This record gives sequence, C-alpha cells and structure tokens, in this order.
Amino acid sequence: MSDKTRLTGRCMCGAVVITGTARDPKVAVCHCDMCRRWSSGPCFEVSCQEVSFEGEQHITRIRSSEWAERGFCGKCGSNLFYQIIGSDEFQISAGLLDEQDGLKLSLQVFTDRKPSYYTLADETETMTEAEMFAAYAPAPDR
Ligand SMILES: [Zn+2]
Ligand SMILES: [Zn+2]
Repeated sequence: MSDKTRLTGRCMCGAVVITGTARDPKVAVCHCDMCRRWSSGPCFEVSCQEVSFEGEQHITRIRSSEWAERGFCGKCGSNLFYQIIGSDEFQISAGLLDEQDGLKLSLQVFTDRKPSYYTLADETETMTEAEMFAAYAPAPDR
C-alpha cells in the first residue's frame, strides 16, 4: 500500500539516471535570478525523496548559496537538481522525467523576480521572494 509515485528520469546524454519517489507529484517553478541564469528560463522542479542516481560519478555539484547545492551532468550539462544542504529531498528538474503527462504545475515562487517577457497561464499558488524567505529562512538565533 503506497500513495507514492515512483519517478524515473535521465539527463540529456543518459550518463545520469535518476529514480525517486514523490507524493502526489507536482511541479513547482522558480523564477529567481539564479535559476534563470542556470537554466536560461525558470526552473521547473518536482520534489522527490528516496532519490538514487546511476552515474553518480558524472554529477557535478555546485554550492549555489549558503543553504543549497545544485547538481548537473558533467558530460552534457543538463541541470539535474536543487537540494537544500542536509535535506533528503531533491528538487528534480521536471524536464528530466520520463513520464511528464500526469504532472501539474502547482506553485510558482519568486514571482516578483520574474521578468516581464513571459507569463505562465496556469492557475497556481504563488510566493514572492519575501514570502519565501519568511517561510524557509532559518531563524536568526539558530
Ligand atoms: Zn548527461
Ligand atoms: Zn530559483
């Protein structure tokens, strides 16, 4: 009995294969400056747990902020994931997944950082930069 969905995906060249599980898989999109620099557009991501990689040796990790790492395929450059350091959860790039038909866009974050040249039509929850930091930034005394 499980309400989890098993997800599989791979980078463009196939050197890195990803498997993970997601509860009610949904796509979140981040409009922040770093994501757009990283991927030339907003980052579409599915939050996954129990993630394992085949071809782990091809993954290059970059510490993109004090609190997070990003991983990409060192052979083809595909963006693989965003991960809060110490978390067992990976934000896997939605475009890597083999099955994308059932996915629904549910959340947009850093909406106030979004440039004006595109707008996503889907009705989603939204969070601004200030709302993101209020929700996720560690308390100053920790
Ligand atoms: Zn690759
Ligand atoms: Zn971002």
